[in-house]
Amino acid sequence: MSNKISVGHVHMSGCTGCLVSFADNYGGLLTILDKYADLVYCLTLADVRHIPEMDVALVEGSVCLQDKTAVEEIKETRERAKIVVALGGCACYGNITRFSRGGQQNQPQHESYLPIGDLIDVDVYIPGCAPTPQMIRNVCVMAYLLLKGNDDQKKLAAEYLKPLMSLAKACTSSCGCDIMDSVINQGLCMGCGSCAASCPTRAITMQYGKPNVDREQCIKCGACVSQCPRSWFSFDVVSQFEGITDAINGAME
Ligand code: SF4
Ligand code: SF4
Repeated sequence: MSNKISVGHVHMSGCTGCLVSFADNYGGLLTILDKYADLVYCLTLADVRHIPEMDVALVEGSVCLQDKTAVEEIKETRERAKIVVALGGCACYGNITRFSRGGQQNQPQHESYLPIGDLIDVDVYIPGCAPTPQMIRNVCVMAYLLLKGNDDQKKLAAEYLKPLMSLAKACTSSCGCDIMDSVINQGLCMGCGSCAASCPTRAITMQYGKPNVDREQCIKCGACVSQCPRSWFSFDVVSQFEGITDAINGAME
């Protein structure tokens, strides 16, 4: 395996929690930066002012349509990155920014926020508010294997990334209602509780063995749907679980 890949963190209308989650890999982040990825752009951590060419762009946050610079930046990101990753619920689904209505000083006209997939093509989703450190780490390692690995590693990485790519193709909005509509109402729910465990606001409680969603508490992050094993579960990935785990553990040693 050869050189490192170049990775950038692009900060749109996000809270930096996704970047904190990336940093929460602790020593694992240092291993990634040491062996696999050069961080070529990240306004929080490095003094590079303009979006450069990069292999992977980790984009955090949604896009304010009334902010001309933000709209230009997301388009530049697409032009300059080989792989665009929507990092976290805001970039994937809008999340809390779905509730933006404008009217606040000192930019009362800043009222419309869209997930990045409504403005550009997105290759990979990492849902969650915040997304887990492990998932961000895994995507970085798999992107490295995809771009720099041997044929077997490329194949494994493609299998791992496939469901996250299919999530990116599926839609740009999500909320707890999706659990009701696409799982429970379809007779698919097995009462495992993964949706309730993944909800960051505890909007989901298990009642009589099935999830109940409090829509007032839902922030539309999409974590419950992406974690539900009856929504988009990929048997391709599960059947290769050991190989994937070995590849990631081996990479992080
Ligand atoms: S119910 Fe919870 S996990 Fe599901 S979209 Fe709403 S806030 Fe996110
Ligand atoms: S994660 Fe899916 S299958 Fe499990 S309880 Fe929730 S809706 Fe049902």
